[in-house]
Amino acid sequence: MVVGYVVFIVLTIPQLPTWAQPAAYEWLFDIPQYAETSDNGSYSGSSAAGPSAVPWDGYVGPGADIHGVPLYGPLQHWSTTYDKPLLGCIFHDPRYQSHTGVDFPVNEGTPVHTTMAGKVVWAGANGPWGNLVVVENNGYQIWFAHLSAINVSVGDILNYGDVVGLSGNTGNSTGAHLHYAIMQKTGEDTYVWLDPQTFFTEDEVIYVGCGG
Ligand SMILES: [Zn+2]
Repeated sequence: MVVGYVVFIVLTIPQLPTWAQPAAYEWLFDIPQYAETSDNGSYSGSSAAGPSAVPWDGYVGPGADIHGVPLYGPLQHWSTTYDKPLLGCIFHDPRYQSHTGVDFPVNEGTPVHTTMAGKVVWAGANGPWGNLVVVENNGYQIWFAHLSAINVSVGDILNYGDVVGLSGNTGNSTGAHLHYAIMQKTGEDTYVWLDPQTFFTEDEVIYVGCGG
């Protein structure tokens, strides 16, 4: 059934008009997908979703330096064990240009560690992000999305490396993975998403690509 479906799609794509092909191509890559199809806050039909629903607390405390990765090896993805996190869809990935963070495909139930000490400003469901934890410090927020379980509460002050929850597949996600994103406050009501890859080094992850 699945094989027939894939063959059907592969044979069908070249037949589509040019304008329709990129979308179909991405959809095809969604079959074994690790990542959400949209997590940029434009998802409709969900309440309390989007960056506006997560407040800025204004907390400033020790340990505001952001570094490292939120998953510690050994890590399991499907039936294979890896010594460091797999890196799937990246920030503004060519195959997923609206992507606001990076995705780490990993089996559900894997502990997720904060990459910055700070205050928990969100710990609960949030539309497309599923179960979401947001940690803030000194004008930065770290977002950990699609969790299966949340281990912290709003107001908690965390040390670097504390476990915020367990990875999962909640919200707008088509396979177990951690969506990891970093936001910087730039003004009273403005913010920007930063590329998380600039906060860790290439040798800390195994790059596998988006949807591969
Ligand atoms: Zn993502």
